[in-house]
Amino acid sequence: MKSIPQKTQVLVVGGGPAGATAAGLLAREGFEVTLLELSNFPRYHIGESLLPTILPIMDLLGVREKLENFGFQRKHGAYLEWGSETWALDFGELSGSYTHAFQVKRDEFDQMLLNHAAEQGVNVFENTEVRSLDFDGDRPVRAHWQKKVNNGSAAEQGVISFDYLIDASGRNGVMSNHYLKNRKYHNVFQNIGVWGYWKNVDRLATGREGDIAVGSIPNGWLWGIPLSDGTMSIGAVMHKNVFKDNKSKDLMTLYTEAIESSPLLKKITKNGEMISDVLSETDYSYAADKFCGPGFFMIGDAACFLDPLLSSGVHLATMSAMLAAASITSYTRGDVSMDEAQSFFENSYRQAYLRFLVFLSAFYDVGRTKESYFWEAQRVTQQDVPSDFIKLAFLNLVTGVKDLADVQSDDTHHFVLEEMTKRIDDNLRFRQDKKKLANLDGEKLVSARENAQFFDSIEGIFSLNESDAVGGLYVSLFPRFGLTRVNH
Ligand SMILES: Cc1cc2nc3c(=O)[nH]c(=O)nc-3n(C[C@H](O)[C@H](O)[C@H](O)COP(=O)(O)OP(=O)(O)OC[C@H]3O[C@@H](n4cnc5c(N)ncnc54)[C@H](O)[C@@H]3O)c2cc1C
Repeated sequence: MKSIPQKTQVLVVGGGPAGATAAGLLAREGFEVTLLELSNFPRYHIGESLLPTILPIMDLLGVREKLENFGFQRKHGAYLEWGSETWALDFGELSGSYTHAFQVKRDEFDQMLLNHAAEQGVNVFENTEVRSLDFDGDRPVRAHWQKKVNNGSAAEQGVISFDYLIDASGRNGVMSNHYLKNRKYHNVFQNIGVWGYWKNVDRLATGREGDIAVGSIPNGWLWGIPLSDGTMSIGAVMHKNVFKDNKSKDLMTLYTEAIESSPLLKKITKNGEMISDVLSETDYSYAADKFCGPGFFMIGDAACFLDPLLSSGVHLATMSAMLAAASITSYTRGDVSMDEAQSFFENSYRQAYLRFLVFLSAFYDVGRTKESYFWEAQRVTQQDVPSDFIKLAFLNLVTGVKDLADVQSDDTHHFVLEEMTKRIDDNLRFRQDKKKLANLDGEKLVSARENAQFFDSIEGIFSLNESDAVGGLYVSLFPRFGLTRVNH
């Protein structure tokens, strides 16, 4: 059996989608990579609905074919009953970008990615926890690991030193929670997710097999994610106060009441049978003050986390993995300085995250009902994110009546949210009538396409070409992977 080396070029902590992607990309670039994972894969994880934007990263990683042929449920869009509106969304319908994604059982998906990383040359060790880090000044340089103990035997322990650390330890957040102590929870999205698994559900209630079903309720919203074995993951996201105010009710009661109050999910589960316990997670949104530092990068949930409404988790995990891998690759080649690499990673990941955060907030605003406290509570404010951060994230995106650069700081949140809400509304109008959509032409077609491209930029992969460059750098995939300077 392989033993954990005493030294490695890159140490990756955590083998979820973020860690496996970063490790695999770096191994393909010739780095010596060691990945330590606490649990024994396959392990259960929530987060089953993927976005099409992971496809180019899976291409880059060389795992696309495996993903396409694995047998995961194909997903072509989403069906939402949101407030008083109904949305049937087809991926790429207007913008011509990727037209499918997948609904995955995460134990299978994560195992596929981790196996692939090992095939690329990553030294993967499961059942191995990183328990502490040693620093040289601010730079982490060594990790103390411990194997999980079986049958009361003495725990195997050791130390590994490294040149670079990638912290992909998810919500555990080794660097952020234990050393930097810089994880900030937002005032918005203080929600709790409760979910379970069902069989014999109506998988065609959304009109097309494979789409995610989303239904809003007065206290939150629900998801229905059809999986390849015929079962469905059905979950509810509600504000923490719903749980506080209903202490006498158990989790199962709150869960079934939530399903009962959504006409869409009620229809889906009408003849269904729940086949699991009810599970829950406090999914408050958070972000670390700083995502990287000397010799280290925090990726995926280890850096920041967002309410799951837009299914952004695995997208942000794999995208930040790509940004970190490109930064390390280019620094090591001598193409950029460490300061440039860090500043690129920090700004691109934060901007991608903030765009989603504001999109979410505006989306919640669209579904708002007059009475409901829950919807009010999801508004992003200056307290959650300073105006200059929002400005930076949206400067190239929001053009129109007023230039964002001229907007007073106090008005930034309001301005960006209003612009976003307007575009969400327009998007709804374009998509509501499929017949009309098919026959759009002239100015209306141009405007519908612009609108779709706007949302692609919010949800898409950030900083992949010159026009999206951050601090004069962008990620190029060909002819070689890494950071490239804007050419002027
Ligand atoms: C209710 C809910 C619903 C969601 N729905 C969706 C969805 O539909 N779509 C979507 O894309 N996302 C969704 N998400 C988010 C998604 O689950 C995460 O964003 C995603 O899993 C992040 O990937 P990651 O690799 O960063 O972290 P993880 O997948 O959590 O992986 C981190 C890994 O690190 C390991 N680890 C932790 N500490 C250590 C240590 N000290 N040493 C070694 N290993 C360690 C863990 O065992 C784990 O395997 C949802 C989240 C919640 C809470």
